[in-house]
Amino acid sequence: MGESKSRRITVAQGDGIGPEITAAVLKILDAAECGLEYDHIDVGERAYLSGHSSGVPPEAWAALRRNSVFLKGPITTPQGSGYKSLNVTIRKTLGLFANVRPCRSYHPFVRTAHPNMDVVVVRENEEDLYAGIEHRQTVDVFQCLKVVSIPGTEKIIRYAFEYALANGRRKVTCLVKDNIMKVTDGLFSETFRRIGKEYPGLQQEVQIIDIGTARVATQPGRYDVIVTLNLYGDIISDVTAELSGSVGMAGSANVGERISMFEAIHGSAPDIAGLDVANPSGLLNAACMMLVHMGLGDRAQRIENAWLCALEDGLHTADVFRDGQSSARVGTEAFANAVIERLGRTPSTLKPVPAAGGSIPSYTYTRPTPRRELCGIDVFVCDATRTPAQLAEALNAAAADILRLKLITNRGVKVWPDGFDETFCTDHWRCRFVAPGATVGDAKASYEPIERTRVLALLGALERAGIEAVKTENLYLFDGVRGFSLGQGE
Ligand code: NAD
Repeated sequence: MGESKSRRITVAQGDGIGPEITAAVLKILDAAECGLEYDHIDVGERAYLSGHSSGVPPEAWAALRRNSVFLKGPITTPQGSGYKSLNVTIRKTLGLFANVRPCRSYHPFVRTAHPNMDVVVVRENEEDLYAGIEHRQTVDVFQCLKVVSIPGTEKIIRYAFEYALANGRRKVTCLVKDNIMKVTDGLFSETFRRIGKEYPGLQQEVQIIDIGTARVATQPGRYDVIVTLNLYGDIISDVTAELSGSVGMAGSANVGERISMFEAIHGSAPDIAGLDVANPSGLLNAACMMLVHMGLGDRAQRIENAWLCALEDGLHTADVFRDGQSSARVGTEAFANAVIERLGRTPSTLKPVPAAGGSIPSYTYTRPTPRRELCGIDVFVCDATRTPAQLAEALNAAAADILRLKLITNRGVKVWPDGFDETFCTDHWRCRFVAPGATVGDAKASYEPIERTRVLALLGALERAGIEAVKTENLYLFDGVRGFSLGQGE
């Protein structure tokens, strides 16, 4: 074992089963002589109910920023719209950009239909639909903005490749929906292909998330490291966790450049809280990822191997216990003791855990400098009474001298010109205006630069005509390339 030095980490025991599994994990960490010291903080349900809408009181923030590592028990988010998710707040506030969730099967000791599964999901953790920017714009229509940035995308994709290299992985699969979301998911897959060229030793593939999820669910052995956007990663990592046998087994890391947070992937399981039946393995696996992150890979290996020995010996908590397969159904504390008793042993059937690690290079963003030109505007209009043709007539009458109406869509589908009567329309219309001289019909030819003053003039003209704009989106060309999608049917 390497040299042990004292290290201070922040610990939150969490809610529900959190206190039981946290106590079990700290007992194992201490027994394995990890040399850790703990700053305990109180975040979660009690903090929410005492008036902190983020679930994190100010003194907890101070500890979180003081120590670079945070071991977190699961948190109960109270029901009600006044409470913000503590996890999302901490991840975004502290810049924890990568959510790493390894899931493997422990066949034949834990029942699973997929004995050869060993998948790591690397999920983007700060952007996408989790930006939480939502609006109700008209009576009919609600929207949630999907925000994807170049630095956010480069950072997560580079991290996934570096993780694969550092951990002896062979393949990285990128899951996206870039056939539909060509701008946002298109950036993700294009960045994956571009950065992937720097990692020729790794197999690489891009898959569409729908078929990708189906294949992960049915043939997880085909996958190694998966990198994907926030929402897809959230879903697919629960699929992989469930496939491995129990949601109680998998840990996860939320990695940032300065601070990182480690937690089980499951929640606070209020249905079994206080009963000494919860499986502490998810948080223990998270703690082992934490040790690797702290340069204590030897301690992580020692604990993981002892844990595998306990599984092999059939000492199973209720969630993985099977009659005839397990030798004893043990509680949370007894399971922790079983792991401690096995420290120093290596498993005989299950693959011993290598001291995975490797440093993750810090990321520096160099912002590109494309020529950015305004070439039009999408004005979203609230109107519950007019037909598309009537709306187009009113818009043209108001704006003809300023900008040219190119098309109107409803929920993304073109309804003017040449719309279909069959298309269902809400009260929310996207009206695309382009340069007055632009040719309509040829998508490429019809976008040319306009002055910004025209946008304000247009909005004034629409207002004077009694047309209510509920939102606008500027249309830009970047080095002459469209930075926006075409309307369906445009
Ligand atoms: P959950 O993961 O807490 O529980 C789902 C099911 O799995 C339950 O039947 C539970 O008993 C079981 N389970 C979970 N962990 C287990 C373990 N270690 N051992 C044995 N069985 C286990 O999900 P939920 O019930 O949907 O959510 C409960 C609460 O947890 C909610 O308030 C939710 O917001 C919160 N939550 C928190 C986190 C987090 O802190 N990272 C993650 C997910 C959910």
